[in-house]
Amino acid sequence: MAQKRGNMKNRTMMQYFEWYLPKNRLHWKRCEVQAEELSKAGINMVWLPPAYKGAAGDASVGYDVYDTYDLGEFNQKGTVETKYGSKEEYLRAVAAFQKHGIAVLADIVLNHKMGADSTENVEVVEECATDRNKDISEKQQIAAWTRFDFPGRGDKYSAFHWNASHFSGTDWDDAGKKGGIFRFEGKIWNRDTDTENGNYDYLMGADLDMDNREVVEELINWGKWYFDTVHMDGFRLDAVKHISFDFYLEWLKRMREHTHTELFTVGEYWSKETERLTHYLDATEHSLSLFDVPLHFHFLTAATSDGNYDMSKIFEDTLTGVDPEHAVTFVDNHDTQPGQALYSFIPAWFKPIAYALILLRNVGVPCVFYGDYYGIPHDRVAPVRELKTLLKIRECYAYGEEKLYLDDTSLIGFTRLGDEEHPGSGIAVLCTDSISGTKKMYVGERFAGKKMIDAMNGVEAPVVIGKDGFGEFRVNGGSVSVWVTEEVGEILYTELE
Ligand code: CA
Repeated sequence: MAQKRGNMKNRTMMQYFEWYLPKNRLHWKRCEVQAEELSKAGINMVWLPPAYKGAAGDASVGYDVYDTYDLGEFNQKGTVETKYGSKEEYLRAVAAFQKHGIAVLADIVLNHKMGADSTENVEVVEECATDRNKDISEKQQIAAWTRFDFPGRGDKYSAFHWNASHFSGTDWDDAGKKGGIFRFEGKIWNRDTDTENGNYDYLMGADLDMDNREVVEELINWGKWYFDTVHMDGFRLDAVKHISFDFYLEWLKRMREHTHTELFTVGEYWSKETERLTHYLDATEHSLSLFDVPLHFHFLTAATSDGNYDMSKIFEDTLTGVDPEHAVTFVDNHDTQPGQALYSFIPAWFKPIAYALILLRNVGVPCVFYGDYYGIPHDRVAPVRELKTLLKIRECYAYGEEKLYLDDTSLIGFTRLGDEEHPGSGIAVLCTDSISGTKKMYVGERFAGKKMIDAMNGVEAPVVIGKDGFGEFRVNGGSVSVWVTEEVGEILYTELE
């Protein structure tokens, strides 16, 4: 069942967490309290962090999965609650979002498990880290952390116990106290995964073996239980390039059959190469969207090239450029923020430009990062102050036909001509990675004689639209200007005060 954008409303997603949220178990409560305000700010979809118990207990952000049936309910890993709170609080947070018209995406981490309850002796072969198809040892025995019996939960919700037969590899020999990439004897890496490092099935922890039907059936059973418990609206899938491409094709199909809902889903396929993303979309029959990672890296390059990036190519060879129907656009996330694994944080001066480019065009589903909306106290990162205005403009005024002006190496822009359904709609956006400048852009004859002003407050002088529907718009150096009618400017000024 492919997603049809025509059936969607104007989706605006927020990743509702950053890596360094305080470990105070208050996040689910914060969600419940903030739901109404987020809805008013123009957010209609949130991606929540993994809600189940991680190996690090209440210090876990959620990607070191221990027990996917423990949503903050059982005393495991030294705590009943997760970093974010209790199961009851989680359910209340989801309900609060949904009550205010905000769809909830649950973060699904099925590539690996961590924090096993005990070890098993397993025959393995060690693989070369940079070419996982290359054996670098004879058969040997290691003590692998692969037994998951969940004594703190007992068999409530599921009697499934994990052992070495359910995994294909690990990275630690507890007998020899030695690290390495160990493939379990008799197992092969899943063939249809990313080809980085030869075969990128293995990422971390105990790697789930998707060639084992017991594993696949258990994950489908768990998915049904999770939906029946939480009633989320869709998913964010972690680390899909490390998981057999067949797996989510089947899992999503089975979940949609079970739930009879669309289940909007976005996968994290971390690659700068758009062809790898489109290959995955083909392999999964376009049953989900992917984050536009190449676009994120275009933003990073543009922001760090001293004004010498070719801005006309910013959308070229990105997922938004080649398959906008399946692109979820973003500027930063919990992995790219300072101190994290995929650190590639977009410099502050470029953030308003990047957000204008993802929020105001008519392509892709944009995802706003919590750390940009609220700031990141841990690293003294300030909120992107323009975000609230951009979100309001997206919600109310960024409608109608789009005219693109990607015709200069620095100064690029686009307009939205507005439509009858949204009073006051119609905007012009102009940005540059270099010095200030002007560009003539078309907003439509119905704006003839009207004054438009820069809602970003960068350019002070208004622009008067000519009889031909064109205006001569200006932007200051290294910034973005977003032009709305004078009346809309006043509404924004009043509403966002
Ligand atoms: Ca894997």
